[in-house]
Amino acid sequence: MGPKMKSNGGKIAWGAVCKPKELLDLKIPHSCSWSWRKILQLRHHARHFIKHLIGNGIDTSFWFDNWSARGPLCLRFSSTILSLLGIDENTSMANFIVNNGWNFPPALLSVIPKLNSIQQPVPHRKDKLIWTVSPFDSFSLKHTISHLMDHGPLVPWYNLVWHTASIPRMKFNMWLAVQSRLPTLDSQAMVHHGNTCVLCGIEIESHSHLFFRCDFSAPLWEFIQARCRFYNYFLIWEDMILWISSRWKSNSPMNILRKISLSALVYHTWEERNNRIFRGNPSTQNRVLTKTSSPSTRLRCGGSLLHHRKLRLPELVSVLQVALVEGWVALGLYFL
Ligand SMILES: [Zn+2]
Repeated sequence: MGPKMKSNGGKIAWGAVCKPKELLDLKIPHSCSWSWRKILQLRHHARHFIKHLIGNGIDTSFWFDNWSARGPLCLRFSSTILSLLGIDENTSMANFIVNNGWNFPPALLSVIPKLNSIQQPVPHRKDKLIWTVSPFDSFSLKHTISHLMDHGPLVPWYNLVWHTASIPRMKFNMWLAVQSRLPTLDSQAMVHHGNTCVLCGIEIESHSHLFFRCDFSAPLWEFIQARCRFYNYFLIWEDMILWISSRWKSNSPMNILRKISLSALVYHTWEERNNRIFRGNPSTQNRVLTKTSSPSTRLRCGGSLLHHRKLRLPELVSVLQVALVEGWVALGLYFL
């Protein structure tokens, strides 16, 4: 039997088994698993993210660790230099500390003169490892992924889809819709289903038609517009998305209501369209509208208003007044 499992640790002491040098320079075995291979392939990133802040120098390798501003010496110089200077590759930084200060051999300084300008050691303190891409100095998966990802410019419709009050199951649908990427019947990929809208049976199905020009969805769209106090001036879906993206940026009570209502309408219209095509199970306009303003949608509207704004009593009264005036409560009560 192996060692007893503890709630705060595993059976394997990784710190003892995998010394920094061995783990970072380990060759990828031919027989290792896919996941272990992927982890090992990311080591070149990790090596630069791990920084040694030198205290007494005992736990910091002169040759392998990332303690200088320009990265580990082993990545910048040939190991021949160690042989020529008579320095062992396992030498720690502590070996160069004399009388609380640096004491590098003159031959080494002639090759790496920058050693003269590094920060002085702090002998009464242990060396410290920090994860450089985290604001807390310790490893953070969230900040590491954020650092590694290539962030392009923010798209205009970002806040329309990814606002924090959005309903999770509708986010992905809305993300596709704002980019006109839902597989509508006017696209080549859906040619085997024909291209006539299954909601009205008259016109060609496209994003513009499906969500506000179709005889089936137009009354639902007008109802939402009236309740959320806005008017759509456009005939083209993409033009409307750009227009509302520039106007619904804030998380004001009315904008939250508008964004959630639009996502819900798009989601349930698309759901109805799919039910008709793939399940042969048509529903009615009233049923789609009821689902659009379902309890979960209303709760999300109300909950996000209260949560986001951290409302105190006077503010709560003010939000309720806004909701009453702007029709949010009416939208909810209408379908109770
Ligand atoms: Zn139609």
